[in-house]
Amino acid sequence: MNRILNGRCLCGDVTYSVQEEFDAFYLCHCDQCQKVTGSAFASNILTSKDNIQWLSGEENIANYQDPSRDFTKAFCASCGAGVPHINRTGSHLVIPAGSLIDSPNISPSANLFKSESPDWFVSGIPLKSFTGFPK
Ligand SMILES: [Zn+2]
Ligand SMILES: [Zn+2]
Repeated sequence: MNRILNGRCLCGDVTYSVQEEFDAFYLCHCDQCQKVTGSAFASNILTSKDNIQWLSGEENIANYQDPSRDFTKAFCASCGAGVPHINRTGSHLVIPAGSLIDSPNISPSANLFKSESPDWFVSGIPLKSFTGFPK
């Protein structure tokens, strides 16, 4: 039996649960993730796309699809916090790690788009780095 982890947006309108069965945990440094987070990188956990149970607020989720790259962001329309979504290729559910309330049993496994990382960023976690998506 997998553990059930709960998550929510900042204001609490959107709540969900997922089973603790994760495929990868990536820190993405791409230009789009920098802009959308206002920070150096996004922290995303990947799981199977049907591993999500919406508990509240699903109708309050807005989406943005970036035209320049395979990039989607789903967020609470009230507070703007990132919430889980299916990636553009349809291969995975992407869970913004910071939206989880419970601590996941997985640690970051790689940096993606590390070449786009801002000059001021100094990594605290030594990880394998890719210039784009992992090969
Ligand atoms: Zn919210
Ligand atoms: Zn990114």
